[in-house]
Amino acid sequence: MADHPIPNFDSIPDFGDAAPAEKPKRKGISKKTRFEVFKRDGFTCQYCGAHPPAVILHVDHINPVALGGKNHMDNYVTACEPCNLGKSATSLSQVPQSLQDKAAEVKERELQIKGYQRVMDGKRSRIDAEAERVRAVYEIYNNGYTLNASAMVSVRKFIEEIGVHAVEGAMERAYTRGGSRGGEFKYFCGICWNIIKGAGNGTR
Ligand SMILES: [Zn+2]
Repeated sequence: MADHPIPNFDSIPDFGDAAPAEKPKRKGISKKTRFEVFKRDGFTCQYCGAHPPAVILHVDHINPVALGGKNHMDNYVTACEPCNLGKSATSLSQVPQSLQDKAAEVKERELQIKGYQRVMDGKRSRIDAEAERVRAVYEIYNNGYTLNASAMVSVRKFIEEIGVHAVEGAMERAYTRGGSRGGEFKYFCGICWNIIKGAGNGTR
């Protein structure tokens, strides 16, 4: 999988550093750590799935510091502003922002959007490559034929849901032990949907 480099986040001032001295300060999570958490979480709020540009992301403590939570990656989670502020009584956004803070937030927002787009670009090219692998399996069993564009849309969706190995397996099974002749692709889709539903009943 292509690992896209995240832009250099050290070129913008930290929110914390930009705040005038009299302002209440949140104990700083460094910008570098913050973006490491975002990257790990795919620049997506882990509570509700929101992502830039619709929201600005925060780093939330899973176990609050007040309750003994540690300042450590394992205790950090990406949360959008509404989810994060919903959890804490005092919010940073209730404090009037200085122009400097505002500028830093605009810059932060841009970097978050860029980071999210890179995650999506990386995911798209990974899924494209994986879909080609599934197509190759199909072609083995369908001499001279290939999957059409709309079939490939389904293949990509299945890969996104259950991963390429399960999808390759389903394709293999459909064309070796599959349904009636001509109904194999439908059978393949059926296998994938069953796995998706099974996953939904179980762990998700
Ligand atoms: Zn959220």
